[in-house]
Amino acid sequence: MTIELINTGSELLLGRVLNTHQQWLCRQLADRSFTVDRQVAVPDDASSIRGAVHEALQRADCILTTGGLGPTCDDRTRELVADLLGRPLVHQPAVEERIRHYFESRNRPVPVRTGVEAWVPEGAEVLPNDHGTAPGLAFSLTPNPFRPGHDAWLVMLPGPPRELRPMFLEQVLPRLLRRFPRVDGFACRTLKTTGLGESLLEERLAGPLADLVTAGMELGFCARVGEVEVRFIARGPNAAATVTEAERRARKVDGVFIYGVEDDLLEEVVVREFLARRLTLALAESCTGGHITNRITNVPGASGILRAGLVTYSNESKQRFLGVPAATLAEYGAVSEPVARAMAEGARRETGADFGVAITGIAGPTGATPGKPVGTVFIAVSGPGGTLVQRQLNVFDRETFKYLTAQQALAWVLQLALTAPPAPPAAASLSPDPD
Ligand code: ATP
Repeated sequence: MTIELINTGSELLLGRVLNTHQQWLCRQLADRSFTVDRQVAVPDDASSIRGAVHEALQRADCILTTGGLGPTCDDRTRELVADLLGRPLVHQPAVEERIRHYFESRNRPVPVRTGVEAWVPEGAEVLPNDHGTAPGLAFSLTPNPFRPGHDAWLVMLPGPPRELRPMFLEQVLPRLLRRFPRVDGFACRTLKTTGLGESLLEERLAGPLADLVTAGMELGFCARVGEVEVRFIARGPNAAATVTEAERRARKVDGVFIYGVEDDLLEEVVVREFLARRLTLALAESCTGGHITNRITNVPGASGILRAGLVTYSNESKQRFLGVPAATLAEYGAVSEPVARAMAEGARRETGADFGVAITGIAGPTGATPGKPVGTVFIAVSGPGGTLVQRQLNVFDRETFKYLTAQQALAWVLQLALTAPPAPPAAASLSPDPD
């Protein structure tokens, strides 16, 4: 089976937008054993788009296009493909109604131009867009007029990632798997880990997985800021059992914390596990400036766990909101183990949360003091089992520093929460605010 991907959009070729669809779609497909044979990005002009689709139809069984389905003058994919296939555009009242509902439910007037999105090439299947207005479109070309003796499936996806991704996962992927079933057996499992860098992780996993790798299982690593993904890929009739066994063995390896699988985010897992255990959290952030709170509140359901996120940047605010003693600040300095400890305990005490997490450090590039170089950060977690503090040295630009420190803090509080005794059934809780 041959798959081709066409990313449309002049902004991609002008370097204004990074072509994340290429990476994301290829990855989604590869995780399910489909590899993209050819990918091309083309500008928003008629001959480029038409030419690219025409060429792909001469070679491929499945063609995915992205972008150009919207209402503006540079969104031309729908009409150009309709023209190439000789299909007239037909008005679909149901699509128009959906678009109207999209705007009205957000209290916004319906722009006249969005009406073009309700004109659908004859014979195209409409893929409703739950996160925007332009629907996706899919054509079953049986037979494919440009490749005698073959059929083709042509799928057109909207450009914005927040529209494309759910549409692909919820609507395109199930259809693709039905149309092109994998008969040879394939399984892929990705584990999200923290605690060890990729080389050490590989060393630790090598022994336990050796026989599976010798038997043909692929083992892959992908290092990211503050975490490493481990990927197992197996083929053949025992593929599923092989990756399950690999995961079972990996989970037993010492020093590796597997916080999630596939596309789990650390903050999602924290919210999920805290909710499941009826635990609450308070954050006292200094140099991370609210980054951890931001990540936690990106997750639906965060109001069920988060009591407060305090950005206590100055010494005065550490004293006033967290009760850090002035003497402790004077004696040890704001970036110190005792201050981190007092911040975490203060956050827990002042909010009544089960866990208080505190961060205090030197993001740089200035601010180093003797014995405390740039990148020094203290992370404290105060919970039912007491207060623990760790010191890290995260020497990066400020943004990476914040992200990495947040990873370390979230992974740590998650590990401690997973082993904490369950909260009593009648635990007092603040009434959750709407997100
Ligand atoms: P719209 O209704 O927003 O016009 P559309 O389907 O016409 O949607 P485009 O206009 O091509 O899509 O793209 C909309 C936005 O989506 C772009 O401004 C860009 O931010 C993002 N986008 C488009 N293509 C890509 C891509 N390949 N990778 C990442 N982002 C993209």
